[in-house]
Amino acid sequence: MIKSIIFILPLMLHGYLFSQEAIPPPVTNNFQKATSYDELSTFINHLDKQSDLLKVEIAGQSVEGRNLYTLFFSSSEFAKDKSKIKVLIFAQQHGNEQSGKEGALMLASELLKPEYRYLFDKIDLVVVPQVNPDGSEMNKRRNANGKDLNRNHMILTEPETQTLHTLFNRYLFEVTLDVHEYSPYGESWKKYGYRKNADITLGSTTNTNISKNIRELSDNGYLPFILKYLSDSQFSSFTYSPGGPPGEEYIRHSTFDVNDGRQSFGIQNTFSFIQEGMNGKDDSIENLKRRAEGQMTGMRGLLEYVHGNKEKIKTLVWEERKKLLAFTPGQDISIQSVHVPSGKPLILPLLSYSTGKDTLVKVKDYRPLVRSLLDVQKPLGYLIPGDCTILVDWAKRQSFEQLPFKIDPGVQIGQYLITAIDSIDFEGDIVVDAQVTLNELKELPADKGFIYIPTAQLKGNLIILALEPRSMLGLVTYDKYASLLKTGQPFPVLRITKK
Ligand SMILES: [Zn+2]
Repeated sequence: MIKSIIFILPLMLHGYLFSQEAIPPPVTNNFQKATSYDELSTFINHLDKQSDLLKVEIAGQSVEGRNLYTLFFSSSEFAKDKSKIKVLIFAQQHGNEQSGKEGALMLASELLKPEYRYLFDKIDLVVVPQVNPDGSEMNKRRNANGKDLNRNHMILTEPETQTLHTLFNRYLFEVTLDVHEYSPYGESWKKYGYRKNADITLGSTTNTNISKNIRELSDNGYLPFILKYLSDSQFSSFTYSPGGPPGEEYIRHSTFDVNDGRQSFGIQNTFSFIQEGMNGKDDSIENLKRRAEGQMTGMRGLLEYVHGNKEKIKTLVWEERKKLLAFTPGQDISIQSVHVPSGKPLILPLLSYSTGKDTLVKVKDYRPLVRSLLDVQKPLGYLIPGDCTILVDWAKRQSFEQLPFKIDPGVQIGQYLITAIDSIDFEGDIVVDAQVTLNELKELPADKGFIYIPTAQLKGNLIILALEPRSMLGLVTYDKYASLLKTGQPFPVLRITKK
């Protein structure tokens, strides 16, 4: 008897340590609470030991020092096999949107099952299940500095967004998905009598400076696929359509700003999306099981689409990125835009508060298209004064390629003079709109020690959107950089163009 226990015990321990399946914490918790950071850490470390397919790294830390876990899935060595396509899925930038994290943890566990092994014949995948652990612990939207991470991708002041972009820069993922939740429970909708009710909504990139070909494949390829994939899996789905209720505010396909997870990667000609599950009432854990399963199904659907269209997506992304990497004269970049109607109404599925039944509403003020109001011609690059610390530090955080600059007869140095500071409507907000004249400088001010940032790089269009003083998405629209605009003064950033 004693002898057999001695034999069996090590076997049982061995079995527990090396082959027992790691159960995702939301399942262990029976979806009765949101997974805590400690539970997430324990689970991820356990999962890491379970399969050669997965390797866990800590890519960075939050404001309060929590780990930003990064899960690398690869059937070989990550990013070594150049024939594969690289996909990045990241969740919970907003700490009170718990289902993205839960779904990502469930996905991680699911992907280790033999039936999903085929995906990794073509895909190298990174999952960051929790971008904002500090916010998650407090069940709050923002990070511990009180910053909205999904409005921080332009200025990159926060360690969480910096970590995400360092990760992106290292591998230049061809496909990215940013996972969120939307809340349909607003007072204005209650008054309207209906609310949105789709389990999962999906959005593509809308900034018009992003490759048109990529946007077309997003809208005509991926979106129809994933909406059907979700409904085949018994989850209601719809195109991500913020705004409303009808009659009060127009409905659009989210912002064309490039400071969020979707478009900050999209502007680098990435096949990039946002997925938004439905939040619980009062940020609660209400319905958490269905919410997490819906999110997981959406993420898995992305992997299946990418697997089935690997060559097409990869070729397209790199063809379009090549256009960013080389300078082509005469390109127009839109720096002010507006949402406009397509002429077709939107048929919006809603839930009636009074009957509890689904209904379809015809929305007349639907503005799905983005039209440019103001273009600039793409310059060769910009010169940032070396003594302007806020700009120099920003350029460093963005890891822009910098080159030495020499005045040659083929180039012209432009300097904006700020003649007035006006304002303009940007998606319902009022932002600064500088009035400028552009003058030619014959030589550079000697004492500034300028840093040259060429536009012929992956972030070239982002650089233009950031540094043009009239850009409604520009640095000058952020408090931290508002002082760059002074009426009657020259704008400190110089503009280099071909003569
Ligand atoms: Zn969100």
